[in-house]
Amino acid sequence: MSNVFILADFAGDKATKTTAELATVAARIGAVTAVVMADAGKGAALAATVNQGPITNVLVVESADFTKHGVPAIADALANLVKGKSPAALLIASHAFGKEVAARVAVLTESGIITDAVDVAADITATQLVFGGSTTVHSKVSKGTPIITVRPNSIEADLTSASPAVENASAEISDAARLSAISSSQPPVKGGRPELTEANIVVSGGRGTNGDFAAVESFADSLGAAVGASRAATDAGWYPHSHQVGQTGKTVSPQLYVACGISGAIQHRAGMQTSKTIVVVNKDPEAPLFDIADFGVIGDLFNVLPQATTGISAKKS
Ligand SMILES: Cc1cc2nc3c(=O)[nH]c(=O)nc-3n(C[C@H](O)[C@H](O)[C@H](O)COP(=O)(O)OP(=O)(O)OC[C@H]3O[C@@H](n4cnc5c(N)ncnc54)[C@H](O)[C@@H]3O)c2cc1C
Repeated sequence: MSNVFILADFAGDKATKTTAELATVAARIGAVTAVVMADAGKGAALAATVNQGPITNVLVVESADFTKHGVPAIADALANLVKGKSPAALLIASHAFGKEVAARVAVLTESGIITDAVDVAADITATQLVFGGSTTVHSKVSKGTPIITVRPNSIEADLTSASPAVENASAEISDAARLSAISSSQPPVKGGRPELTEANIVVSGGRGTNGDFAAVESFADSLGAAVGASRAATDAGWYPHSHQVGQTGKTVSPQLYVACGISGAIQHRAGMQTSKTIVVVNKDPEAPLFDIADFGVIGDLFNVLPQATTGISAKKS
């Protein structure tokens, strides 16, 4: 049976659900090895959290250079591991960090890369949604080790517990990857809400909020959801750009996406139309986003959302 690598994905010191999603899709191809790239001395603790999904092995690569030199060092060590172990494929989470690592590994191993896949078949054919999600593309890497980034939340993760064998591998890092060093870094200030691209539920607000996101945030908090925004809202300075959903923002694929006061421009759809269930709240019955809604509420979001928040809070208590 062939061996497939996934790059284990972490939030802080814990493996994310995305790691289990990568493992689930990788298991169609072969036996799954999760690679943990860790700062010196941190590998064992991180590896202990890689315990969900069909993972048979965990390979821990530790180096102080990962913190000191960042992505170039991580990608360099991962590329050397790929060259040495020749896995059938390498799957990585499709977020900014994952895509940068994937691109560098592809260059260093002279391999083909496919980004933003929403599925990968047993024969390593990747599925992507392009042109704002209007076209489905199936493609295969034809050179080197297939390097594929997979969008978080696209795959239903096998979350059964795993007890993989843990091994260490040495980090081989070239001098070229050490040419720049990180002098300081500041982690993003996190609120109590989940990360937008990994959230199971996203509640987004658009121009219809008229700059007042309080109703959107309260409703999101009642559901334990992340808050997103249309570009109209972020360009107006009503919500941070880091929360923008769409072609020039983030791509989300949650179980539930609730769009409030958002018309449904193609550029917004591009970032959310693979959501499993779409609910639209808009006072204009002709709003184009109703075309792809599973449930629609025609009404003023300032009336609808407080009632929905009260209803959900009452159900929870
Ligand atoms: C190159 C390019 C890239 C872009 N990238 C993005 C992107 O990444 N993400 C993105 O979102 N957009 C993007 N856009 C912008 C996009 O074209 C739209 O302009 C934008 O999505 C509109 O945002 P909106 O739906 O919030 O605003 P509008 O289109 O103005 O819609 C507001 C909606 O709110 C409804 N409404 C008003 N008041 C209420 C109320 N009280 N209650 C309920 N409903 C109400 C209205 O009926 C209307 O449907 C991009 C555009 C370009 C050209």
